[in-house]
Amino acid sequence: MVSLGLLVLVLFDLAAQELKTAKVDTLMMGSAFGFTAVHEDENLAYDAISAAIREVGRIENLISSWKESSETNAINTNAGIKPVKVSLELYDLIFRSKKISRISNGYFDISFASIDQVWQFNGQESQLPTEEEISESISKINYEHIILDPKKTTVFLKEKGMKIGFGAIGKGYAANSASDLMKQMGIRAGVVNAGGDLLSWGSKPGGDAWTIAIADPTDKSKPAAWLNMSDKAVVTSGDYERFTLIDGEKYCHIINPKTGWPVKGLRSVTIIANDAEFADALATTVFVLGESDGLKLINHLEGVDGFLVTEDERMLYSENLKVNLVQYEE
Ligand code: ADP
Ligand code: MG
Repeated sequence: MVSLGLLVLVLFDLAAQELKTAKVDTLMMGSAFGFTAVHEDENLAYDAISAAIREVGRIENLISSWKESSETNAINTNAGIKPVKVSLELYDLIFRSKKISRISNGYFDISFASIDQVWQFNGQESQLPTEEEISESISKINYEHIILDPKKTTVFLKEKGMKIGFGAIGKGYAANSASDLMKQMGIRAGVVNAGGDLLSWGSKPGGDAWTIAIADPTDKSKPAAWLNMSDKAVVTSGDYERFTLIDGEKYCHIINPKTGWPVKGLRSVTIIANDAEFADALATTVFVLGESDGLKLINHLEGVDGFLVTEDERMLYSENLKVNLVQYEE
């Protein structure tokens, strides 16, 4: 039996160990990343963040299509030629991506990437592509032509000119992996912000849930809404992240794989779900589907909520979402 004296001593000791919050911001995967770790031992909190940063770097080297040494690049350069043996990790990511293609009827498709022949979104485009160029490019988009062999863990892109890219799901995957690692290292509360894909767990040192701000699509520095939550992913896809202007018209980096054209209609989609990877892929999917079909999909999925801002600045919520709108003084 624990003596009362010892119990009092233990309680006293716990109270003396104040929680510290470690924070690091950095640029990775072409985006702003932020890591927060709460722990009594500040050194451990910073060590966990360093490990998480290395983990994101490792994932970037694996999935980036423009890194020559990446497995993804090997798959792309062998399109129409031969299957490529890959790590189980990349194989599984492609397997899960294809699953999302299926539930979205092909509106989410990692083989959208052959469209980089016509859209680069690097600010260099000055005129619109022709319909011929577009239709040539979309003829290569088809997730069913990403052939997976589970026994050999190979990936084969069936057609020459096909290409895959993880722009719509990679940051969410990285956020999941980074937070798993931090948890394994003993961090019971923290936040990973993977370029706007947020994953939080535990609570702030005072015991309150984390407060998550959702950017206003017309002014990124301002929140349009905020949510109090923990142990959830909050992920936003927006037309303001990457786009090109041609003749004063905005063309954003999210492509409708059926038409080959950048999607119009929404300014941002925020998804709240348990898993950052799924939320990331779903935010892009809902962006492509548009307000009506997009909301239908969110409402249909168990444990998923969403918040949409339309181009004409209407705000739409999924059935179960309770959002606290920030009120601005005129
Ligand atoms: P953000 O980078 O703003 O978080 P998203 O998660 O929505 O945005 O990802 C957008 C990226 O997804 C694009 O830059 C492109 O790489 C990729 N992408 C564009 N359209 C599609 C699509 N229909 N299916 C899958 N990936 C896409
Ligand atoms: Mg996404």
